[in-house]
Amino acid sequence: MSALRLQGHGASRGSALGRARVRLPPTQDVGEKRIAANAVDAELQRLHQAIEAARTEMRELRQRLQGALPAEVGEFLDLHAMLLDDPELLFALDELIRSHRYSAAYALRVQRDKLAQVFEGMEDDYLKSRLDDLDHVIGRINAFLHKRPASVKGLAGEILVCENVAPSELAQLQAQGVVGIVSSAGSPLSHSAILARSLHLPLVVAASGVLHRINDGDVLIVDGGSGEVVLDPAADDLRQYRQRLRELAREQRELGHLRSKPSRTLDGADITLLANAESREDVAQAHALGAHGLGLYRTEFLFLQRNALPDEEEQFHSYRDAVLGMSGRPVTIRILDLGADKADRTGLALGSEENPALGLRGIRLLLARPKVADTQLRALLRASGYGPVRILVPMVSTREEVLAIKRRIVKLAGILRAEGHALAEHVPVGAMIEVPAAALALDSFIDQVDFLSIGTNDLVQYLLAADRNNEAVSELYSPLHPALLRLLAQVVETARAHGVPLSVCGEIAGDARMTPLLLALGLTELSLHPATLLEVRRAIRESRLADLRALAPKLLALRDRRGIERWMIQATT
Ligand code: PEP
Ligand code: MG
Repeated sequence: MSALRLQGHGASRGSALGRARVRLPPTQDVGEKRIAANAVDAELQRLHQAIEAARTEMRELRQRLQGALPAEVGEFLDLHAMLLDDPELLFALDELIRSHRYSAAYALRVQRDKLAQVFEGMEDDYLKSRLDDLDHVIGRINAFLHKRPASVKGLAGEILVCENVAPSELAQLQAQGVVGIVSSAGSPLSHSAILARSLHLPLVVAASGVLHRINDGDVLIVDGGSGEVVLDPAADDLRQYRQRLRELAREQRELGHLRSKPSRTLDGADITLLANAESREDVAQAHALGAHGLGLYRTEFLFLQRNALPDEEEQFHSYRDAVLGMSGRPVTIRILDLGADKADRTGLALGSEENPALGLRGIRLLLARPKVADTQLRALLRASGYGPVRILVPMVSTREEVLAIKRRIVKLAGILRAEGHALAEHVPVGAMIEVPAAALALDSFIDQVDFLSIGTNDLVQYLLAADRNNEAVSELYSPLHPALLRLLAQVVETARAHGVPLSVCGEIAGDARMTPLLLALGLTELSLHPATLLEVRRAIRESRLADLRALAPKLLALRDRRGIERWMIQATT
């Protein structure tokens, strides 16, 4: 029997072997289907069994995670259990099957759409977002109705196959034992992908066709590096999988020797390697690998998957622990970068925006919600009493934004000192360069910042007008574009002329293939996830900075991606 190979994009490295658990999109179109009059009872029974199976699953999940769950996640589970017991919902489903002779799946679809209309008509954004919960519950009933053999229990050792996975559910999935994820949509630059890398959870995205081809219980091999998904692996595939695990282990061992080595080029230039972090584990790993500090601590994750905003104390503890975790090395904490695309369930009631990437996100949102900003800034300033903290401002596009947030910081620092808190004498404030306007007109506000960090993930999407989450334009969404390279060179030059420290914290900083290119452009500080820190250190140690700098003019004159790729090959040989 030969295996079937499906191809997606590798989004979080690592290989996984496991049984598939298919999660169909809850709103998947189920065509109208009617059943024969004598099949009604059997269909009702099928539906009731599926609902009961979904209830049992929910109960077991709750028990398994007892004590390990934040209260808010527990609340979601309660809500899901309540929906499964809702007499009105159950009665309506039975009625649709009985009187209209709909199939159970179609009855679910009809009832879901009816309720969706009610939810969508609600004024309250929080209530509106309950539609996700309804969809989740209906999706689970559907899964039991269709595919799932009763013998498959739990998620341990399973590979989730789904349409998309939200950043907020990743940690929970991993805690439930999921060993890998394959999604039919999504992009390697999405926040889910970034978080999956942080959790070391293999992830393949944009693997079209997986939802049709893969069934519950199928055995899969997932390679989060190459993006390959092997369905029903043959003996050869299993051998290759084991071989790959051995290679990965060997590479990790080899890289392990670089833990205590400097990030120094062959010609003696020291490059600063900072870490991107989202969790305590990331901080611990960054410390262990000798990162020079944290270059980007994303605070959004503290705000996700909950109904109320974290208060000052909770935030303070979290930031202080990151500072203590780095024992004296600088910790750059980015203030909240949420927008309508990520803010649901955070307690930040935002109206839905047609185009959230261009909407009220990052610094714009914080200036529009001064209370939210002040709570976070107070917590951050208090954390500065425990070690060097730097405040990083996301999505800056104007000088006024920088001035406005700095005014708030100065005012709050005064209040906190008066309250008796011990703050650092000076808390540096820096700007993310991720909006082309900020890059192009950097000299218009550079006198107001202590440091800069280029967020290439967003800079690429805004510069090339290519959504970082949209698979349809993923070919276009690439840092290997002459416009990006020229803009980076311009930012490097402006920062150098003004003596302002500059780093890159987008995902390209953690891609060792990009290291020679970034060094050639004059970047000397990179901030990256600890998972690839040693690979990038190795790439630095194999580079000769002077040679790369000499190749920069040629790089900047290139006109297309192929040319840039050829330059990259030439630069490393
Ligand atoms: C970026 O845009 O490059 C960045 C680092 O921020 P995020 O990925 O969180 O938007
Ligand atoms: Mg960004």
